[in-house]
Amino acid sequence: MAWGGKRDGAGRTPGPKLTQEEVEALILEQGGLCALCSEPGSVGGLLADMDGLRKSVRGMLHPKCKEFLALGRDNPRRFQMAIAYWSRDLPHHRA
Ligand SMILES: [Zn+2]
Repeated sequence: MAWGGKRDGAGRTPGPKLTQEEVEALILEQGGLCALCSEPGSVGGLLADMDGLRKSVRGMLHPKCKEFLALGRDNPRRFQMAIAYWSRDLPHHRA
């Protein structure tokens, strides 16, 4: 019967529970840059990207970068395929 209180509080925004200090330390560690695209971010502008299995923070990312990452989360090969797609020659444009 007793469910050992492992549920996240309802109504809370999902995500890691980091204190403001932890967030600032992580961003500082990354030199104030997004861990994915290396563009500058800011406290509040970068979000923690969690490793779902290890329950640890993989890095601080822009919301857009985190979204982008989420697209491939179910299938990381998609990124490799996307790169291959972009870098392929366009047969119909070849002289
Ligand atoms: Zn970014």
